[in-house]
Amino acid sequence: MPANILLVEDEPAIQELIAANLNRAGHHVVRAADAESAQRIVREALPDLILLDWMLPGASGIEFARRLRADERTRAIPIIMLTARGEEQDKVTGLETGADDYITKPFSPRELVARIKAVLRRRAPQATEDAVELGGLRLDPSTHRVTASDKALTLGPTEFRLLHFLMTHPERVHSRAQLLDQVWGDHVFVEERTVDVHIRRLRSVLEPGGYDALIQTVRGSGYRFSTQAPQPPATR
Ligand code: CA
Repeated sequence: MPANILLVEDEPAIQELIAANLNRAGHHVVRAADAESAQRIVREALPDLILLDWMLPGASGIEFARRLRADERTRAIPIIMLTARGEEQDKVTGLETGADDYITKPFSPRELVARIKAVLRRRAPQATEDAVELGGLRLDPSTHRVTASDKALTLGPTEFRLLHFLMTHPERVHSRAQLLDQVWGDHVFVEERTVDVHIRRLRSVLEPGGYDALIQTVRGSGYRFSTQAPQPPATR
């Protein structure tokens, strides 16, 4: 599954080189040359990962990373800092700001792609090709197959992405707005009830084996993928 990567880099030659390498590795790349235009892009749609140059005209990469970490909507976006500096103290500052990894220029394209893969695996598993198995379901992004106890299920593309996100982030409640951001990549123009429509479709595909119970509605909050039965109301 290609990841959507936002590349924030002001040097055109480096930007071009990195974008070409990421495209070759199968990723979608959106480019920005400064923090302000990157901010506008993020406001529209959340990327799976941000490659962020430290030294930018205007607000620095560090400032932009701080801003992203301070906002609940963008807090969890994985960030890899790019920098020409090799100082240990800079690395510490970068990681303290909330960067997930740090690469010093010049770096090999292969190293960059490997680091991206490692960070995605840790922080955004829905953007990787790794198969997920949970609660009797198995979802394989590389073959686009979902099975329930080895029986193949047929899911539409949106239901597939929705299930993938839920399975890679289990036991957590996701609001409709968060699901729109993460699964649809559009929290502005798509209505929240769209989420309910696709949850309903997903449940109906999962229903025959009773797997629909894995997708729980959390009243007033959103949805959760859970292998644990919801707490029964206290009786006595
Ligand atoms: Ca720069």
